[in-house]
Order: sequence, then structure tokens, then C-alpha cells
Amino acid sequence: MSHYPIFADLNRRPVLLAGAGHVAERKAESLLQAGAKLQVVAEKLNPQFQQWLDEGTIEWLGQDFQAAYLEHVFLVVAATDNHALNRNIYQAAEARGKFCNTVDNLDLCSFIVPAVIDRSPIKIAVSSGGTSPVLARQWRQKIETLIPQHTGKMAALAGAWRPRVKAAIGKLSERRRFWETLFAGRFDTFVAQGRLNDAEAEFNTQLAGWQSKQGEVALVGAGPGDAGLLTVHALQAMQAADVVLYDALVSDEIRALIRKDADKICVGKRAGLHQVQQEETNRLLVRYAQQGKRVVRLKGGDPFVFGRGGEEAQELAQAGIPFRIIPGITAALGATAYAGIPLTHRDCAQTALFITGHCRTDGQDLHWQTLARGRQTLVVYMGTIKAAEIAGQLIAHGRAADTPAAVISNGTLARQSVQTGLLRDLPAMAAVAPRPALMVIGEVVALRDELKWFADHQAVPLNA
Ligand code: SAH
Repeated sequence: MSHYPIFADLNRRPVLLAGAGHVAERKAESLLQAGAKLQVVAEKLNPQFQQWLDEGTIEWLGQDFQAAYLEHVFLVVAATDNHALNRNIYQAAEARGKFCNTVDNLDLCSFIVPAVIDRSPIKIAVSSGGTSPVLARQWRQKIETLIPQHTGKMAALAGAWRPRVKAAIGKLSERRRFWETLFAGRFDTFVAQGRLNDAEAEFNTQLAGWQSKQGEVALVGAGPGDAGLLTVHALQAMQAADVVLYDALVSDEIRALIRKDADKICVGKRAGLHQVQQEETNRLLVRYAQQGKRVVRLKGGDPFVFGRGGEEAQELAQAGIPFRIIPGITAALGATAYAGIPLTHRDCAQTALFITGHCRTDGQDLHWQTLARGRQTLVVYMGTIKAAEIAGQLIAHGRAADTPAAVISNGTLARQSVQTGLLRDLPAMAAVAPRPALMVIGEVVALRDELKWFADHQAVPLNA
């Protein structure tokens, strides 16, 4: 079951709380803070509840729960120490379509309460979906240390000044950029130091001097798949983007990290058939940037390694669009590392070569004498279809047929699978390899027996 997160406005809204002991008191505190009108049902009130009652902060409906109490309330919290009573209350609430939270009993909850980091008006809620409140609280503590205390103050000021920014800057994407620039600069320092006059002066200066900016494009390497291998720059660009054009190779896990309200467009195709699409992609990049948007072109691995990133950057340069390149971990680095195959090793490989199989293998594009040399590592991208030709050429040009070789599929992802064998087995391994797959040829492959560390999803049997 997955809970739907909402922040409820309880101000002046009646909430029924059953119980008035220690546990109920904790619930009451946060409900009162949110401005709820607490109606309490309890056999007896503890001293704090008695004080609230005397001050007129809460209302005491009586000692016994009655279903009729539910009529006009928005939420129900069952916090008595009587399990049967809690269950009755929950069932009565369910029957009337009222949200009910029962303390310490997930089965009797139609809503649960998250752990909260409070920098009002900013609030961050952490929930484990009821599975482990302790884990949620631990995360809250970690996040607490990350969020500066003055964040709430910043949000309050921004809230007050929002209409002015809206009046001065017409476009939504430009307003976003204004706020981001403001929050990232001296304004932040002033608010942190409590120098609110300086903060306001800074805001006024920035707003008066604001000029609409041209869009820009970031060519971002998403790495081979494992989201943990993204760079900090990549993540920041993905979080700031208005539009993201991504390849089919970009994993779901990574796509989930793109800013929620960015437009996400899949432009990628796996090897083959993509000339038309490439031109269309180039056109889209230029067009969105000309509209003033911040565009991220999210590419598998590294944008400049066999990914046409160079061509895209040329297109942008020619159109006069500002761009930057954020490198990523290319498949040859990521997949071999997770397969426990070092690309170089003092004992057996001083050179590593990366080539693409998606080109002419007849000798026009590739220098086979060089590729077939011993004591070096050859990594082939997009090569599984041409594995037989590649293995044949290497052997014909002198590489031993019993050189160790591997095919790594879905490298760095949980579903990674690795096959190892000899160069002469390469076509058979490639034929059954799930895509995307990388072929690695060289003495270093033999080290995997000793260095294998990342659990493989499944071993694909040779000769399958
Ligand atoms: N720019 C990318 C490469 C794009 S070419 C990079 O730097 O990694 C696409 C090829 O990359 C695929 O055909 C495959 O050979 C390889 N590849 C990409 N991701 C991979 C992965 N997770 N595991 C194995 N090979 C991968």
C-alpha cells in the first residue's frame, strides 16, 4: 500500500480526539499547533488536558464515545489505551467516510502522520508508510541537520513579495529563475544573519535589474544506470530544468530524479535507425532554448562518448545557444568496475581502447592491427550484433583466440549480468546477452574471478 501525501489545512476545523492521556497529549499538541478545534472524548483528563479545558483551548464532549460525534469533524484520532474502543471508533469513522488515525495500529488507520522537519512555513514530511516510524524519525534527524534554520524566514519573505515579482516578471519560467538566483546569492546570507533590511534592499536591486535571459542547454551524462553514479552537477541540472530530453538508455531510477514539473521528452533510440530522430532532437534543443527555457539533454553514460553529444553541441554552438557539458561515467568505466574487471593492470594491460561496433567493420573505420595487439583491453560499445565479425577480425589480425572476453549487460543496474569466456566464444555470448551490452576483450577479464564483488542478477548460460 502506498500512501498519498497531503498537507491538510486544519485551521479552525473540528477534529475528534479520543483519549486524554500521555499519548493523546502528543497528538493534541501538534493538532493544536495546526489550529485545529479539538473535541475530546475521554474518561478522564490528564493535567495538561485539564489546563487546556480551563483555558478554553479544547472542548470536552464527554466520557463515552458516540458515533454522532463524528458528524461534523474532519479528522478522527483514536488514542485511548482501550484497543476495542479504538477499533469501534475507527470502524465508525470508516462508515462515515472520515479519516481516522489510531495510535500505534496501522490496521486501524486511514491516514498516518509523518515525521516532520518544521521550518515554517516550510515543512518536510518523512514517512515510511507505517512500516518503520523509527527509520522515518532517523531520516528526519538527518534532514534536520541539512536544512538551515532561516529557510522558513526566506519562504515567509518570498511569500510576502511574490505578488511584486509576479507583476514585474511575466513568464513563469523567468520568475522561477529570478527566485533561484535570489536565493543562491547574498540574499540568503542576509536572511541567515537576520539583516532583513539588507535582504529587502538586495531583493529590490535584483528585481529592478532583472533582465530576461536566454535559455541554455546542459548536455548531461547520466552515467551507466545506477543513480548513485550521477554527479552532483548532473543532479542539480536535472532538478533545475524546464525541459528534459532523454535517451532510451537513461534508467527509470534516474528519470525519477528529474524535477517533477519539468517536461520530459524521450528522444532516444537504441543503435540503428536514428538519423531522422537525431536531427529532430537537435531542432528541439535549439527551439526550447530559444524560448528561454533551461534545457537538459540527458544522455546515457558520458555525452561525449559515442553518444552524438559532440554533434549536438556543434548544433548549439552554430545556433549561438549557451551550453555546458556535464560529463558522466561512461559505460566502459561503470560496467567494468561493477563487473570486477579493471581496465588496466600493471601485469597485463597498459592500454585500454574504447571502440564502437556501430560502424564499418571492414577495415575502413577500424585499424585492426592496432586493436588486435596483446596486453591491452578493448572495450566495444554497440557491438553485440557484430560480435562475430569483430572476433573474427581480431583473431585474423593476431589476437589469440583464447584471450579472455566478457559481455556485460545492463552494467551497474540491479539487473546487471556478466558472461565471461574466450574471444572465440564472443559471438555465442553476445547472441544471448540482454541489451544494452558491452564487450570487453583482454587479459584483464580473467581478474574477475578474484575481483567480482557486485551480485549479478542472473548468469546467462553459455550455449543457451
Ligand atoms: N554515451 C554512452 C554510450 C552510448 S552508446 C556512454 O558513455 O556510456 C550505447 C552503448 O553503450 C550500448 O550499445 C552499450 O554498448 C553501451 N552501454 C550503455 N550503457 C550500458 C550499460 N549499463 N551496460 C552495458 N553497456 C552499456
